[in-house]
Amino acid sequence: MANVLTVEHLTKKFAGLTAVNDLSFTMKERTIHSLIGPNGSGKSTTINMCTGSLPITSGTVKYRDEIISGRVLHEVASRNIGRTFQNLKLFGSMTVEENLMVGMQAQMKDGILKFLVSPASAKAEEKRANERAMEVLDYIGMYKYRNETVANLAYGQQKLTELGRSIMTAPKLLFLDEPAAGLNPSERVEFVKILLKVFDDGIDLFLIEHNMDVVMNISNYITVINFGSKIAEGTPKEIQNNDEVIAAYLGS
Ligand code: ADP
Ligand code: MG
Repeated sequence: MANVLTVEHLTKKFAGLTAVNDLSFTMKERTIHSLIGPNGSGKSTTINMCTGSLPITSGTVKYRDEIISGRVLHEVASRNIGRTFQNLKLFGSMTVEENLMVGMQAQMKDGILKFLVSPASAKAEEKRANERAMEVLDYIGMYKYRNETVANLAYGQQKLTELGRSIMTAPKLLFLDEPAAGLNPSERVEFVKILLKVFDDGIDLFLIEHNMDVVMNISNYITVINFGSKIAEGTPKEIQNNDEVIAAYLGS
């Protein structure tokens, strides 16, 4: 299987702090690849660099055969790469449906330009976005909540809404930053089911997740970092029995 993601010597320095330190790993096509590590170990920073949300200090990120590091968010998104954020970035006062549509428009870099040039084609695009939103809402089991204001939804439904927004553009690779955090056990089971459906339908998943049951059950491969550096990688079985990984978690 081909590599979908090749990260080489990735480093991020914030003033006085090396958040990600010379990190290298590869992610294979058709896998769920998890990135785990104690709080503050550099997981979100890694995703932020891979998706163009945060400038990198040094190193490279390749999506398939193309170097994507150095590109900005919408350029990465236009390469069929999607993401969710650790802290929800939904518009609380808008409906579920509107949040999904905004997600799509935000990824269409020329959306505003198109509107200026041709209001008619912008209208057609909006119609397409709306049809896609209905399709996605049905897919994630949120269709009946489409007209609810996001702020009024249960947290689990908000997390699902964000997942829905991230698949609006039908990405091939999806980065998920703690998508199941804060969910209760039954919401979590439901969420994982939907994640697996998304994966089975052809979207490769790069996952940050704290719940070890979830990680060990659904990952094909795991990269473990601590203080920004890789300390282990392997299958769930290999990681579960790795002394350095256990020590890192006990020390945190
Ligand atoms: P994780 O997602 O593994 O919990 P993060 O990637 O969020 O960890 O953070 C890694 C380290 O970088 C932490 O020490 C955090 O405080 C620091 N950090 C993250 N973002 C910034 C920022 N914008 N400015 C300064 N320090 C940051
Ligand atoms: Mg994080």
